[in-house]
Amino acid sequence: MKIEESEAKFKFCPLLKTSDDKMKMCQGTMCMMWRWADESKEKGYCGMAGTPVAG
Ligand code: SF4
Repeated sequence: MKIEESEAKFKFCPLLKTSDDKMKMCQGTMCMMWRWADESKEKGYCGMAGTPVAG
């Protein structure tokens, strides 16, 4: 799923949890796993799930 970083920050990260075991939001470019979809850097995706197939 390719989305804008501002949108990703409202999606849950499958890896991050708070100290009381609640899910945390995607950290976007603050995370080493964030990947830009192309050089325009308008949209990106979580590299943990591999490269998006479409969209
Ligand atoms: S880019 Fe990083 S913070 Fe965002 S969902 Fe993926 S692993 Fe979590």
